[in-house]
Amino acid sequence: MSKVFKFGGASVKNPKAIYNLKEIVSSYNENLVIVISAIDKTTNKLELVWKNYLKNETLKSTEIATEIIKFHEAIIEDLELKNTVGFLKLFNDLRLELVDYIGAKTKQENNISYSKIVSFGELFSTLIISSYLNKEGIENQWIDAREFIKTSKNATDSRINWEETKRKINSSLSKDKSYLTQGFIGSNLDGETTTLGREGSDFSAAIFAWSMDVEEVIIWKDVDGLLNADPKWFDKTQILKKISFKEAIELSYLGASVIHPNTVKPLKNKNIPLTIRSFIKKEHKGSSISKVGKDDKSIPSVIYKPNQILLSISSKDYSFIFEEHISDIFSIFSKTGLKVHLMQNSALSFSVCGIIAPSELQVLISKIQEKYTLKYNEKVNLLTIRHFKNLDIPELFKNQEVLIQQRSRSTLRYVLKEKK
Ligand code: ASP
Repeated sequence: MSKVFKFGGASVKNPKAIYNLKEIVSSYNENLVIVISAIDKTTNKLELVWKNYLKNETLKSTEIATEIIKFHEAIIEDLELKNTVGFLKLFNDLRLELVDYIGAKTKQENNISYSKIVSFGELFSTLIISSYLNKEGIENQWIDAREFIKTSKNATDSRINWEETKRKINSSLSKDKSYLTQGFIGSNLDGETTTLGREGSDFSAAIFAWSMDVEEVIIWKDVDGLLNADPKWFDKTQILKKISFKEAIELSYLGASVIHPNTVKPLKNKNIPLTIRSFIKKEHKGSSISKVGKDDKSIPSVIYKPNQILLSISSKDYSFIFEEHISDIFSIFSKTGLKVHLMQNSALSFSVCGIIAPSELQVLISKIQEKYTLKYNEKVNLLTIRHFKNLDIPELFKNQEVLIQQRSRSTLRYVLKEKK
């Protein structure tokens, strides 16, 4: 076993893309663990199923689930899988399990039902692609990631139980075989399905790689590699061809959207190189993330994260904000799932820019207001500039109001807000 591959939703979005995946996989003459996301935007649609499930709108959730199933059936038809031994039974069992689950009279709690429902995206995609590859002579064994990736009880953004996961993987999987499995999903010690947070399949690939000590992870993407800026905002982007684990962790933490922020750390710990390559331009080498970082400082990066929230917290009696307050405030952040991207404090106030699930915002606000005075701004934008010789706000953002500015030797960060 030498490599883990990860293919995201866009790389398997239709039969042609799945054919392309087959071409890529067959050009490697070695055993692989192939980790795959849900096809195209299936997870978004399953989230809608879940929202209707929560509102007891069974008709609506069944209607959307039926659309999702039909979409997959059309792909099955195109890939001519209907006569593949055993496939239809497995697919039908899964399909019925989803419909029965959303139609059941007793509903499960929010987090558990979320993970259970969205997991069908990855279960459908991997069953289809594994069967297709086997039919085309690319031998692989479909495995259920929930039997291997063990997580904390929290179901939607779960922490990994690393030792148990490694034990499960190494006691059952052989290095002399190829496997195909789901990204994004795992299970807790009670056996309930859990998920690793949206876009979590990269992280799943890293977890398998870490557990099995493979020699490389390749994430196949629709971009040419890790870019120094998001092409959505900037015209002239450059590929970071060789960067260090450390720089990649910084960039993904700061918001570079190409890799999921948790992915790099386990790979760095085991010194397993990560390559990000285009599944479209297969001849391109992409970006390599390893111990050596030739491009770490030579290419400036600009990262723009819109739609953040800025909180300014001060004590109600104008006393200083001390360490105990900060630890109390952080425990509220951690309970409500606020992800902190930037912090700043003065004697009387503590400011934080970050992101939180819309459903948790009100809970966060009221918990803070129980003890502190809070001012907050929604829809602020976080701009980070790294390794620029000439550190200044790019033209594109110059008309925004600067709410916070922070500067270190290598990084300049702004919290910005559109002027009214
Ligand atoms: N399918 C999941 C999502 O869309 C996980 C992933 O694609 O990484 O977020």
